[in-house]
Amino acid sequence: MSIVNSASAQLSKLPSVDRVLGFPSVRSLVEEHGRAQVTEAVRALLADLRKRPGEGDLGEAALSARVAETVAARARPNLRRVFNLTGTVLHTNLGRALLPEEAVEAAVTAMRWPATLEYDVEGGGRGDRDKVVEGLLCGLTGAEAATVVNNNAAAVFLLLNTLAQKKEVVVSRGELIEIGGAFRLPDIMRRAGAKLVEVGTTNRTHPQDYADAVGSRTAMLMKAHWSNYAIAGFTSMVAQKEVAAIAHAGKLPCVVDLGSGTLVDLSQYGLPRERTPAESIADGVDLVTFSGDKLLGGPQAGILVGRRELIQRIKRNPLKRALRVGKITLAALEAVLRLYLDPDRLAQRLTTLRLLTRPEKDIAEQTQRLLPAMARALQGRATVTVQPMKSQIGSGALPVDLLPSCGFAVHTAGRGGLARIEAAFRALPIPVIGYIRDGAFLLDLRCLEDEKVFVDQLPALGITR
Ligand SMILES: *Cc1c(COP(=O)(O)O)cnc(C)c1O
Repeated sequence: MSIVNSASAQLSKLPSVDRVLGFPSVRSLVEEHGRAQVTEAVRALLADLRKRPGEGDLGEAALSARVAETVAARARPNLRRVFNLTGTVLHTNLGRALLPEEAVEAAVTAMRWPATLEYDVEGGGRGDRDKVVEGLLCGLTGAEAATVVNNNAAAVFLLLNTLAQKKEVVVSRGELIEIGGAFRLPDIMRRAGAKLVEVGTTNRTHPQDYADAVGSRTAMLMKAHWSNYAIAGFTSMVAQKEVAAIAHAGKLPCVVDLGSGTLVDLSQYGLPRERTPAESIADGVDLVTFSGDKLLGGPQAGILVGRRELIQRIKRNPLKRALRVGKITLAALEAVLRLYLDPDRLAQRLTTLRLLTRPEKDIAEQTQRLLPAMARALQGRATVTVQPMKSQIGSGALPVDLLPSCGFAVHTAGRGGLARIEAAFRALPIPVIGYIRDGAFLLDLRCLEDEKVFVDQLPALGITR
């Protein structure tokens, strides 16, 4: 095999795939990534170069480098770690709740070893996977029974499909919510086979509205949490206790979709109050649904708690089998629920709560500490200042409550500069996600716990001009 050194010869003819696979540095890529991956990358690269003859005169070194780049890009996982500096703690697009170490360990064990998922280790017989968390959920909410499905949307769907198919569900017009990600209560209801009966008006619903709507075809009275919006001003909604009483007078169940559903009174941690499933159960609500990965701080899951007879009917629905959760979820959920048994240490151990309760002073000190490293990384390209900010809880929880925070504001002189800065932070090995507002690129440091890794990669910031 003779190596053609003349650039003009290479221009006219790119090397063959086999030839490129024979380059020493490409051979070492094969050892690392396997022949199939590298061959595929070489083919794609050569095909691409053939389409752009101007670039065709690459020598061995340049070609090898391009192959390495292509292989690395293809080998990069699609689901990657990022820094969430958006100021939204429970960011749906960035995976919502971060799991505490206890949950990570439990999930890893469940992944790595056989586990008592549906096995009663005392009796040696078959068990029920809901038993992994049912006792804990009942203890924490005061409910008689509990079951878990894939997410809260699935919980609401399953509950409606089980208890209200071909029947009517009475909901206040003020609670016909749409939350992000295409969850609209009326749509879910239709798909579940239930007929929606709207009562009241957008801003006001009264007890008599519910009572008047109850008829022979009514399956239940339902309330849904407002989640991601707020109604203010001349408003009136009927408390769940009262709706439950009206439902029970008609021998009907009252169900509540709580959405976020924290298991503790958040005001004890200095956060705004949010209704808990325990309060709903105490108010006489028969079934409550909530998410596992919002304020609860666990894995993605939909939790149903309430009266045993209703939970049993839900579990007998064949769709429960289609919507059930796996062992990894249950392991993580159990570990998170166990943290709630010790409320004194919860704010330290439960990641979501720790981030939500981080003192502003702490975040401000951290911002000052990292300012020199940021300034160095942006030198000559942008200016960076420390700025007070407002973080959000996110995921529809407590939509109007903002948490005082702190972070960096990056300013650039030229037009379009901010977009390039934003893109450069996203292009870091561990992408840093911030947001552009009021003529600045903002990084809210509330959720920055892995400070060293953040700083260490800053020199890699490549901003194109
Ligand atoms: C978030 C939310 C849902 C959907 O929960 P997922 O766990 O995301 O499926 C349903 N209802 C309300 C009120 C919510 O806030």
